[in-house]
Amino acid sequence: MSQPINIGIVGVGKIVRDQHLPALAKDKNYRLVAAASRHGKVENIPNFPDIEAMLDAVPELEAVSLCMPPQFRYDAARTALTAKKHVFLEKPPGATVSEVENLKALAAQNGVSLFASWHSRYAPAVEAARAFLNSTRIKSAAINWKEDVRRWHPNQEWIWAPGGFGVFDPGINALSIATHILPPMFITSAVLDFPENRASPVAARVTFRTSNGLPVTMDLDWLQTGPQSWDILAETDKGAMVLSGGGSKLAVDGKVIHEEPEAEYPMLYRRFAEIVRAGISDVDLAPLQHVADAFMLGKHNVVEAFFD
Ligand code: NAP
Repeated sequence: MSQPINIGIVGVGKIVRDQHLPALAKDKNYRLVAAASRHGKVENIPNFPDIEAMLDAVPELEAVSLCMPPQFRYDAARTALTAKKHVFLEKPPGATVSEVENLKALAAQNGVSLFASWHSRYAPAVEAARAFLNSTRIKSAAINWKEDVRRWHPNQEWIWAPGGFGVFDPGINALSIATHILPPMFITSAVLDFPENRASPVAARVTFRTSNGLPVTMDLDWLQTGPQSWDILAETDKGAMVLSGGGSKLAVDGKVIHEEPEAEYPMLYRRFAEIVRAGISDVDLAPLQHVADAFMLGKHNVVEAFFD
């Protein structure tokens, strides 16, 4: 096996503790050598207040994972790429489409790899859903992504700020799956509900049309208590498909045809090692472009104030 890749983590918060550290600890492709964060720390490795200090002090670093919120990622990514380090971007890869396009060009200029990671694409039943849909004639599709923001994002102010995407933060996970399993599509209308005291939407209803004219709807809601719904449904000539649990379970006409435990982040890191060793980048901006289009085309409704 090749030498492990020396990697550093930037922005030590919830997703780093929940997913990145456990995935890296089990992956022989990597040696975690440093972390940079203003407050967060990773035990048993050197910690630095910012990426510049980390790059200065740890020249053996070959790659960095950037896990801070998307609004604060571009400068760190630029710094890392110009220092010729491979870069893994948490989802969403940036706050705008054009900044990520710029990072893609910078990675190519510096001869390093850029990975726009979409963790939900690695959910266990997504490939089975893609194979099923490729073997059918799709009539229509619907995305229902409804969760409780108070449960999943307590006190995360950045998520409500401009560039935090609001309900499109989970919604972009749905789009990362939909753009992988459905034909190319584009938005025809959208309605976004903004709480009167927030800069980002708490709900959205979006309609798409695929390039071959099929209707696709997307219903996002961040105020769903009780059972949570992360489902993509499709009516096809071979039955009604339901991809549920955020891509973890696939059923057709009520019969489960694929279900297994998730391993999204281990698979993301495997893919990152693969692209680093192949000397390529993996940057698909389709999910981010749809979010940008929803904000561009969508009607903005003002709704009741939201308090944590
Ligand atoms: P978080 O815990 O609120 O933020 C991560 C860390 O980023 C914070 O602990 C903070 O560390 C740093 N940070 C916050 N504001 C910053 C700023 N203004 N400038 C520089 N650094 C800042 O968020 P998270 O839940 O881990 O999410 C981070 C990213 O992962 C988001 O893009 C999110 O969409 C994605 N993600 C989250 C989840 C989830 O379930 N939470 C799942 C998948 C993906 P310091 O204060 O130490 O600098």
